[in-house]
Amino acid sequence: MRKKQFKAESKKLLDMMINSIYTHREIFLRELISNASDATDKLYFKSLTDSSIASSKDDLKIRIELDKAARTITISDCGIGMTAEELEQNLGTIAKSDSLNFKKENEGADGIEDVEVIGQFGVGFYSSFMVADKVEVISKALGGETANKWTSEGADGYTVEPCEREKTGTTVILHIKENTENDDFDQYLEQYKIEELVKKYSDYIRYPIVMEMTSQVPDPDNEGEYITEVGDETLNSMVPLWRKSKSEIKDEEYNDFYKQKFYDYNDPALVIHSKTEGQATFDALMFIPKNAPMDFYSKDYEKGLALYSNGVMIMEKCADLLPDYFSFVKGLVDSADLSLNISREILQHDHQLKIIAKAIDRKIKSELAKLLKNDREKYEEFFKTFGVQMKWGVYADYGMNKDGLKDLLIFKSSNSGYTTLKEYKERMADSQDKIYYACGDNEEKIALLPQCEAVKEKGFEVLYFTDDVDEFAIQMLMEYDGKQFANILKDDVDLSTDAEKEATQKKNEEAKDLLEKMKDILSGEVTSVKFTNNLGSHAVSLSAEGYVSLEMAKVFSQMPGANEGVKAQLVLEINSSHPIAQKLKDADDEKLSKYTKILYNQARLIAGLSIDNPTELADSIVELMI
Ligand code: ADP
Repeated sequence: MRKKQFKAESKKLLDMMINSIYTHREIFLRELISNASDATDKLYFKSLTDSSIASSKDDLKIRIELDKAARTITISDCGIGMTAEELEQNLGTIAKSDSLNFKKENEGADGIEDVEVIGQFGVGFYSSFMVADKVEVISKALGGETANKWTSEGADGYTVEPCEREKTGTTVILHIKENTENDDFDQYLEQYKIEELVKKYSDYIRYPIVMEMTSQVPDPDNEGEYITEVGDETLNSMVPLWRKSKSEIKDEEYNDFYKQKFYDYNDPALVIHSKTEGQATFDALMFIPKNAPMDFYSKDYEKGLALYSNGVMIMEKCADLLPDYFSFVKGLVDSADLSLNISREILQHDHQLKIIAKAIDRKIKSELAKLLKNDREKYEEFFKTFGVQMKWGVYADYGMNKDGLKDLLIFKSSNSGYTTLKEYKERMADSQDKIYYACGDNEEKIALLPQCEAVKEKGFEVLYFTDDVDEFAIQMLMEYDGKQFANILKDDVDLSTDAEKEATQKKNEEAKDLLEKMKDILSGEVTSVKFTNNLGSHAVSLSAEGYVSLEMAKVFSQMPGANEGVKAQLVLEINSSHPIAQKLKDADDEKLSKYTKILYNQARLIAGLSIDNPTELADSIVELMI
């Protein structure tokens, strides 16, 4: 029989399939099952309007058979089948997807809108050649007299000849390649592997995918013995949870689905199930875990949502569907309108995908806002686990996403417990023109800072920043609802009255020489030493001038490849009404030097900074004690 040649583009694609070391080789099964499901859809669709086609949905199955000895996988369906011409047209030419045409032609028919056609994408059938060196397709078209067999051993062409097949439908026989040094093809002949692939990619195909399974079961007559049982098993669960309406689904079902699919022992903290129609039509089922996954903070962690096209999984983790600040969200998206190819690169530029990603971002934000409003305790729990991620989101990308995130942030504050920025703003006194914050290792330490006491005494609330990222995020925000942020440890915060300010300024002028001397004693450690009146009952404190705050300087110094250039400009503040002020004025040069160093080191300790020579500090203090 004369071999026919593939069309040029088809041949190219086929070559690619045969030769490429294709990492997603296993999708061949998904593609063939999707084709079988499409063909079954078409038959079922026709049977709804044509009573001569006796076809109850119950009979429509897809069958898989494995023959290890013959090295074949056979996939059969009872679908609409193909004529000889169709075999040639459909399998001899790529990029002629008549699934699409079929859908268009029949759109609008009554009561049958749920007939959907999957497999509008990609290389489909040709992916068989990634695992098989010979493929046979036996098909009998609906209403056809005879059956035909299409055979190909790859790029050198194909044949079509008449053959026998009792019923309408299609059978695809893959002759699996022999193993090579690098490639394990034998695995596709194992029943567990096929079972796994069906579960992974085709679990929600709506027809039963049946395979004859051999299993060992306990022998009821002989204890401890096993017998071999052979029987048909349905491998797929058929109805995707996310396709059901919310009201039909119990919490337990969501939880079980999540735990099974995302390997978590705990129920999720939040379930987000949405159906979207409009610019993009898709179902999304997303979860926020209770705890951060083990690898969440490692570089191995991959964010993303699984991507399905009409119940068929296309990608396990599509990173483009989730912004980094929601990288903790797990779940999936199922859409019929993705024009999909197997290539990730193409997907990245897909317009439809971008629209979906935007809608998902909005959805997660609105669900979190709802949680914040309706279940504060739960939101705080969530925020303790994943809030840092969102704060980085405010800071990242030059603040591009800050407006969408700022009202989802919560911070500890002197008001007790967590507060949103909005709540803080609402509590602000008329006389308060800035949102105050202070940074430190934990709330307790911050609350004890001299400046913090002073600000609180004036009746102002202070936000407690305990995460490295907090101040960076806030600097990016710049202001909230017209109010600027102010670090109370920076010298631009002065809550004194004009009269107080004047008095302090006078004291500084009078002690100009003394303060200058102290600055010299600290040789370059501080940019200035000054008297202040905002330290409450405390003697000293450290603050920072300029852009870099103490906390930012600390963060910078801990970063790998620490940026030497980024240093805070430190100011040593001395409480002008504290007895120590007089002591300093009275001290001789030797004493002044000692006192200054001690005060500076104590101020560093209060600010949570390390000190260069702790032994020297301890020695000097002891010396003063004896
Ligand atoms: P796609 O599924 O994207 O259209 P394929 O290369 O997988 O691309 O298949 C090409 C065409 O071959 C399908 O559109 C369909 O018309 C036909 N086809 C493939 N498999 C079957 C099948 N099992 N039964 C009937 N027709 C099939």
